[in-house]
Amino acid sequence: METETVPGRCACGAVQYRLQSRPMFVHCCHCRDCQRQTGSAFVLNALIETDRIAQASGELDAIAVPTDSGRPHRIFRCTHCQTALWSEYGGVAKLRFVRVGTLDEPAALAPDVHIYTRSKLPWVSLPPGVSAFEAYYDSSKLWPPESLARRRAVMT
Ligand SMILES: [Zn+2]
Ligand SMILES: [Zn+2]
Repeated sequence: METETVPGRCACGAVQYRLQSRPMFVHCCHCRDCQRQTGSAFVLNALIETDRIAQASGELDAIAVPTDSGRPHRIFRCTHCQTALWSEYGGVAKLRFVRVGTLDEPAALAPDVHIYTRSKLPWVSLPPGVSAFEAYYDSSKLWPPESLARRRAVMT
């Protein structure tokens, strides 16, 4: 495992955390759920093992939100300022989708893939050569082998 760690925090600073390794993969999701939940054009999610998020301070509320798929989705927010720090999908407690915008240096984790581009806002242009899909994608074809192994480990 790499020794590099990546710091982040909520808007008020009560929640401080560090990612203790690089994530498995980074999604830029342009789906309508993500647009509505963020109030913005897309969400940036770094997929990482829950036990690789070292939370140094603060308390989180886990807020269940409705989804098109009906699968559970909880958003973890600072109890003070309600900044969304990460999500849990499908009740998989060992996996977190960390909001890249809460990192001290969000540019450090560029998206590996753009998904649900069918609802991408028309004035958002994607860089040439980036992986992009109208809906979801086949992670077995896109993820590096070590990331697939990490995901297998958290799903068992
Ligand atoms: Zn806060
Ligand atoms: Zn989405």
